[in-house]
Amino acid sequence: MYVHIPYFRFLNPYHMRPGYLISSLLSLSLILINCAAFSQSQKKPNIIFIVSDDHAYQAISSYGSKLINTPNIDRIAREGVRMDKAYVTNSVCSASRAVILTGKYSHVNGLRDNGTFFDSSQQTFPKLLQQAGYKTAVIGKWHLWSQPTGFDYWNILPAQGNYYNPGFIKMGKDTAYKGYITDVITDLSLNWIEQNKGNPFCLLLWHKAPHRNCMPPLKYLDRFNDKTFPLPANFYDDYRDRLGLQRQHITMAKDLDIRYDSKIPCDTCTVTTINNWAPAEWRREIDRLTPDERKVWDAAYAKEIVEFNKIKTDDERIRFQYQRYLEDYLRCIQDVDDNVGRVLDYLDRNNMRENTIVIYMSDQGFYLGEHGLYDKRFMYEESFRTPMMIRYPAQVKPNQKNSAFALNLDIAPTLMDWIGLPIPADMQGVSMKKLLQKGKDENWRKEIYYHYYEQSFGLTPHYGVKTNRYKLIHFYGAINSWELYDLKKDKSEMHNLINAPKYANTISQLKEKIKHWQQYYKDPIKQ
Ligand code: CA
Repeated sequence: MYVHIPYFRFLNPYHMRPGYLISSLLSLSLILINCAAFSQSQKKPNIIFIVSDDHAYQAISSYGSKLINTPNIDRIAREGVRMDKAYVTNSVCSASRAVILTGKYSHVNGLRDNGTFFDSSQQTFPKLLQQAGYKTAVIGKWHLWSQPTGFDYWNILPAQGNYYNPGFIKMGKDTAYKGYITDVITDLSLNWIEQNKGNPFCLLLWHKAPHRNCMPPLKYLDRFNDKTFPLPANFYDDYRDRLGLQRQHITMAKDLDIRYDSKIPCDTCTVTTINNWAPAEWRREIDRLTPDERKVWDAAYAKEIVEFNKIKTDDERIRFQYQRYLEDYLRCIQDVDDNVGRVLDYLDRNNMRENTIVIYMSDQGFYLGEHGLYDKRFMYEESFRTPMMIRYPAQVKPNQKNSAFALNLDIAPTLMDWIGLPIPADMQGVSMKKLLQKGKDENWRKEIYYHYYEQSFGLTPHYGVKTNRYKLIHFYGAINSWELYDLKKDKSEMHNLINAPKYANTISQLKEKIKHWQQYYKDPIKQ
């Protein structure tokens, strides 16, 4: 039996209001009265938490994408809640995963960037669920370097893993599987569920796709060949008045490798300093195909090589690389969507739909040419925001669209709350239970705080705050540069208003908000 005793929440000043105390005591007594009935009539929910890697909300049809149709991911939204303003606190793979597991900002969980080992001795929500009797597993991309803890079963990719015939580390032992990564991760996951469905379980089904270099499943090598993807309106952003953008090396125009990213075997093509590792990595990826698979691959890409050889101008080359990037990226997502469908169908077939919480999200968003970029990291909308949808038919009404500011930070406390476990006081996220079940929570946060640290690819550390109307960002370290965006007038974040006199008051208010959140979250950065 699991009783939610909100004792720990009393330590949080947000919950010290008298009204909250009274309502908490009332709800506690109601819960205690209902305990017997609860334990007999309601089984604890299962959790299937699907995280894809670098999946942009711009590439999900439920979010209005014209690029691709994703009927299975859309189904989670249609049968549950689609979070329309979900964000991450630090937009890079490992860091976001550590935030998700701990419910704590990077400066608290200790993993600030992709090069840091996760301290796996610390508290995570799977560990707490396991202690409470759940069967727990993580299958797929882990990318936290240290061995998983708190899982009855783990079978993870070494580092980023590989798309074809992938190696895994299964409970500490090197293992390899035939097939395509997204299919293999789902196969292993469905097998594990089949063996554990007698207990309440929590499965982290964490995909590698569509992470760079987006090598698609063979069955989709021809998909999207009939489409020409238009460049986003701000593809040729000149980065005026924005120093952070001027320093980066993640542009579609200059920073993709023709071999690794565009899959054109060109020995004489330039290798840029930022991508000096990419040609060798490309060779290792393509060599994983069996001779028969390689024939299929070569046949599919032969026409791309012909196209490439016709290119005369730099602009043609940029458009070619943009098109190539999107085709392969979306092909990978098509297979993620297929495999999400396999999981949902399994739940239907096994009568597990009602009592299973299914979450779909990405570890962060991604640029698909906006500001001329690929990749993530910046606090600009496309990589700061992430897709997030949650289905739990027993508790959540279908077809809801929620525009509260949700964070990856909130997943851990939400799951704790939903299964009736106390939320540890040191988790910094907030339970979305009320928000999801009632559709609104009047005490919900009105702004969100972000902090990115990693300096690879020319990035500069920065932190900032976003409200519904504004975004203020401070790049620090090698530069000291502030940016203000009025999101009502400038959705694409092209006009830095930091020096506009009429925004002076707004800027000081937003700086105060940053200071507030830095104190609240105990972020030691000094402005
Ligand atoms: Ca990622």
